[in-house]
Amino acid sequence: MFQLRDLRRRAALCAAVLGVVALAGCGGDPEPVDSRVVVLGFDGMDPVLARRWMDEGKLPNFSRLAEEGHFQELGTSNPPQSPVAWSSFATGKGPGEHGIFDFLRRNPETYTPNFSISENIPPDRFIKLFGLQVPLGSGEVLNRRQGEAFWVKAERDEGARASVLRIPVTYPPDDIHRMLSGMGVPDLLGTQGTYTYYTTTRLGDAGSSTRTVRVRPDRQGRIESEFEGPPDPLLESGEPMTVPLVLEPAEGGALVQLGDDEVSLEPGEWSDWIRVAFDVTGPVSVTGTVRLLLVQGYPSPRLYVSPIQIDPENPAVEIASPSGYAAELVEDIGLFHTIGMPEETWSLNEEHISDAAWLEMEKTILAEREAMWFETLDKNDSELVVGAFVQTDRVTHMFYRGLDEQHPRHADTAPEHRDEVEWIYREADRILGETMDRLGPDDRLIVISDHGFAPFRKAVHLNRWLVDNGYLVLEEGATESDVIFSNVDWSRSRAYALGLNGLFLNLAGREGQGIVAADEVEALKAEISAGLAEWTDPESGEPVVRRVFDGEAAYRGPERGDAPDMVVGYHRGYRASWQTTLGAIPKPLMEPNRQKWSGDHCIDPALVPGVLFSNFTPEVEIGGIRDVWQLTRRQIREDES
Ligand SMILES: [Zn+2]
Repeated sequence: MFQLRDLRRRAALCAAVLGVVALAGCGGDPEPVDSRVVVLGFDGMDPVLARRWMDEGKLPNFSRLAEEGHFQELGTSNPPQSPVAWSSFATGKGPGEHGIFDFLRRNPETYTPNFSISENIPPDRFIKLFGLQVPLGSGEVLNRRQGEAFWVKAERDEGARASVLRIPVTYPPDDIHRMLSGMGVPDLLGTQGTYTYYTTTRLGDAGSSTRTVRVRPDRQGRIESEFEGPPDPLLESGEPMTVPLVLEPAEGGALVQLGDDEVSLEPGEWSDWIRVAFDVTGPVSVTGTVRLLLVQGYPSPRLYVSPIQIDPENPAVEIASPSGYAAELVEDIGLFHTIGMPEETWSLNEEHISDAAWLEMEKTILAEREAMWFETLDKNDSELVVGAFVQTDRVTHMFYRGLDEQHPRHADTAPEHRDEVEWIYREADRILGETMDRLGPDDRLIVISDHGFAPFRKAVHLNRWLVDNGYLVLEEGATESDVIFSNVDWSRSRAYALGLNGLFLNLAGREGQGIVAADEVEALKAEISAGLAEWTDPESGEPVVRRVFDGEAAYRGPERGDAPDMVVGYHRGYRASWQTTLGAIPKPLMEPNRQKWSGDHCIDPALVPGVLFSNFTPEVEIGGIRDVWQLTRRQIREDES
């Protein structure tokens, strides 16, 4: 087996003789690696679905891996959400230690939800000059995840080189041999994905991840508008920088001018990448990349503009390590999506784009990810290679309705789109096969998913349940509440739900307007828990909640202060409503999920385990996703000895 120590010795020799530290300095390409630990993730791959299609002979590479190596269910994190589970994967620790408990974390002072994964800290000093605000020193981005990732440890302790591609919760990037950040990378607006939708007709409120621009064509059909970028960092008013956008009727569709580019599109057609340059007051400009989709042609055109990606060739923030790596990748594979969650699931959920257009975008993203994954494997210059494909998760979220005959959206899902979940599993199988073809005889392969899947048939308004049972109190005269508890009377409220699984007490001394005394906590938690256990769906008589976890008991470690007081584990088929996650309280207690986001996994973790495959038999028992850390560490250390 390959000896890492040899490599280090050679590197040291190299450094001594030539005065360079990099191995590459020893003459051309780095020494190829004889044996590697390769960890390949397929987000959301479900063991039951995998087993079904393996048995039907549809996933031959997974079947071969299971036969020649190992296949088991892999316990997920609590709650079973991707950022939580991938953080446990990276650090080998639970949420009490790594600090990621949900997609959203709350500010207890204001009851406001924030993105839990990363945090932008603005520069704190400005010179105010002639109405401009000039930052002194750039702002900072923090990865909120605590604990050390196994790739960092492997580089430091074993001298291995690690290549880590698009693993969730790796933004900003770790300073390692090679990293491209995944979930957590913002768009150029600093959000997790804001798209822009130009329309000539009025649309309903589509939520905060959409910018809807109402436009009016002149008599010739010409539409003159603007495309807004980030706020000018030098202007105190925070006015956005813009580039002109013009739309005109053209043979078969429309001609679109965006900034300096011009593209003609047919209805349903995606453009290639377009680079947009926003001029900051003064000599600098910041660039981003977008793709356009002509959703609908004339006479009532609709144009979709993707979230503005951080330009990998001229990144406004660091998205890769070393910092030139993203640009290098562009040279090798062309421009690619850089945002942490590039799949525009919300635009499909809002039905701003069609199933077919969404799937085409998904195929583009999949092809980009494949290209970078295979390029990294082919380079063969890292003892540890780690990458994740999240497309399995996204397609299953959006097309579970095709698989699930009981789903409210099954009937109107076109027959040609009913088997998309099977399609993405076959794609995963193909990627696995091509990965296995690239492995050397001593390479160890570990394939995992972070959680499985379940149908999402009913949206549960947990905050309404809390209102109905007297734990959350609306202001005098109010019958419902908008997001962030706009109509809640905190002086009489004892509990509230926020995020996908979290339930919090309105604790005195912790929450901004807390009223629950420390000595009332245990009894209140027990009472709410018992109430939720008895909650049944009036339509079917089925229980809604399978288990409620006490945050105090579920989490250990220094970060537990951020944890929910209770974690709600829904039954199969149920999930917190979107309104609940953001602290809104509509009138009904629950309702059929009539949206295309039709599969989910944010329920009782016991119902949604992930998968573990390997081309060797693990020497230790692997119970859950955090144990993969040990498994990987063991393989790396074995290489070293
Ligand atoms: Zn998911």
